[in-house]
Amino acid sequence: MTGWVAIVGLGPGRESLVTPEVRDVLANATDVIGYIPYVARVVPRKGLTLHPSDNRVELDRATHALTLAQSGARVVIVSSGDPGVFAMASAVFEALEGAPEFSIVEITVHPGITAMLAAAAAAGAPLGHDFCAINLSDNLKPWEIVEHRLRLAARADFAMAFYNPRSKSRLHQFTRTLDVLREECGTERLITFARAVSTPDEALVTVTLGEARAEMADMRTVVLVGNSATRRVGKYVYTPRSAS
Ligand code: SAH
Repeated sequence: MTGWVAIVGLGPGRESLVTPEVRDVLANATDVIGYIPYVARVVPRKGLTLHPSDNRVELDRATHALTLAQSGARVVIVSSGDPGVFAMASAVFEALEGAPEFSIVEITVHPGITAMLAAAAAAGAPLGHDFCAINLSDNLKPWEIVEHRLRLAARADFAMAFYNPRSKSRLHQFTRTLDVLREECGTERLITFARAVSTPDEALVTVTLGEARAEMADMRTVVLVGNSATRRVGKYVYTPRSAS
């Protein structure tokens, strides 16, 4: 009998932000596949095999899941946040496209709370008007594309959320990002660095682009940049819905 593959998002960290639907899917699984820190968030139980991997090749992980399901396993692939936001869901469909024999496997996707929405809620409502999300990692796309999109998004006056802003092996890209933003938005624009949102390490800081420093971001940070109308009210940051 063929099993199934469920691709789930575990949310940004806090247990209460895991949806009941994702909990139900996990309760019915025989196997859990994913990156080590995400699999570590799943409570072990009898009958459940955990397959933590540090394999960065998402396509391999997806193929592994589909292969297990083909022989009867009920496989959950875990991502942090939402599985469709810079995460595993696309990789599974890409694997399916390349291997039609997997089309007998039932695949479902179960949303989670993505980092930018948890960060925006913690800050107030900085994404309250039109916004976009950009992955600043140039591991899977050339930096020129990242910079082009970011410049046009700034010109279009979108509020922006940046994922994967800065890692030990990608230091100059975020420095460049801040330079482009200052060129396009000036130095008074608000920028929020939201680190480890909804975990015990949570830290949020909002500054102007003039005050922003690249070192304020790391791989546990999602960065939110306001549009031209974004402002502070008390300790909150918000973007009015009437912004032009
Ligand atoms: N699928 C995930 C994103 C994976 S990419 C989601 O929907 O949230 C990994 C990036 O997500 C990190 O580099 C960081 O920018 C962001 N991120 C994930 N969890 C976070 C958290 N709790 N707080 C702040 N940023 C987070």
